[in-house]
Amino acid sequence: MRKKFVAGNWKMNKTVAEAQALATELIPGLAPLTSIERVLCPPFTALHPLAGMLQNTGIGLGAQNLYWETSGAYTAEVAPPMVAELCQYVIIGHSERRQYFGETDETVNKRVKAALAIGLTPIVCIGETLEENQAGKTAEIVSRQVRGGLADLTPPEGAKLVVAYEPVWAIGTGLAASEVDANTIHRDVVRVALAEMFGAEVAQGLQILYGGSVKPNNAANYFTQSDIDGALVGGASLKAADFVAIAQAAV
Ligand code: PEP
Repeated sequence: MRKKFVAGNWKMNKTVAEAQALATELIPGLAPLTSIERVLCPPFTALHPLAGMLQNTGIGLGAQNLYWETSGAYTAEVAPPMVAELCQYVIIGHSERRQYFGETDETVNKRVKAALAIGLTPIVCIGETLEENQAGKTAEIVSRQVRGGLADLTPPEGAKLVVAYEPVWAIGTGLAASEVDANTIHRDVVRVALAEMFGAEVAQGLQILYGGSVKPNNAANYFTQSDIDGALVGGASLKAADFVAIAQAAV
């Protein structure tokens, strides 16, 4: 049985004070939900204070990116040991990184390897654009992103990943993918590619999250599907009541 997993990607929102206020609201709602994994991914600036607040709550902390070098002259980048000092998770390859900051399958692969090497759990994001979807290329694109982003990993390394399928056209738009369509991609494309790379047993154990306009009123539909193991939530993770409701739906 794969444990359900719900992560909130706060993106470039919340000052330290605002992040602390949101965490203060979230902790009492999320801490009791021990049957699922719950993870908060605030901006880098809020990681240190939140690491303290989340101690002994059972709620995990994730960064939204990391660089692959360990240290050095890379102005403004954040190194794996810096993230691992505070976090257990890191989002890698979010579509906004791919779209605005030149992230590719190759750079995703470098970040995934660096995250795994230091003991972080990467939440690896994949998903097709609207044009790719309309051109009938979803399976091809998603499969390529899985194989490229996770290239050269051993099966034991592959077993430590979380994958998030996030169709780009569904992110922040209110146009969520249907649960049946998302489940089909998870089962027939993502898990099949993972099985070819890491073996059937590893692939069956991996959590594949759906992301894209998940809200309290549609979350349960996703979580009842065979191959949707949780959600990566953007907008709705910024409202404590909404994110707690989504996590409760996963329970
Ligand atoms: C995301 O940014 O990963 C995301 C899924 O955003 P939203 O929930 O706002 O669509």
